[in-house]
Amino acid sequence: MYYAEFMPERLKNAGILEAIDWVMLELNLPEHVHVAIEFKRMALYSQASVMDQDYDPEEDDGWWFDIEISSRLKKDDVIRAIFHEMIHIKQMSTGRLQYINGQPYWLGKKMVGLDYNNRPWEIEAFDKENELLHKYTMYKQSKMV
Ligand SMILES: [Zn+2]
Repeated sequence: MYYAEFMPERLKNAGILEAIDWVMLELNLPEHVHVAIEFKRMALYSQASVMDQDYDPEEDDGWWFDIEISSRLKKDDVIRAIFHEMIHIKQMSTGRLQYINGQPYWLGKKMVGLDYNNRPWEIEAFDKENELLHKYTMYKQSKMV
């Protein structure tokens, strides 16, 4: 489940909502995972974070993640950015990527001092985002026939 906040009309009309639905199914995110997507003016193209750090299965009010997307991006770049951040949400929701006191842990190991491009969760996200984009293009084409 997700909600999109302040999405520019041009993007709503351009099928971004369909791309979001598709990628959430494709990544098979657990049901208790909720995602808020916000379009805003920002320096970065996009980022994903855990809004609700302490998910408790006993209470089960859901586990909330936040995606922020730059409102400057063009449609294709928005889809790419959303796919990329959704991969991070998948990594976090499965515990492969964790942030403890602001420090990243990958597969349970503390990761310090790594350049952005050498972070294993970024390497995975960049690989997988291309895979997803390719699959999504195929899906769109198959619907047009
Ligand atoms: Zn990333």
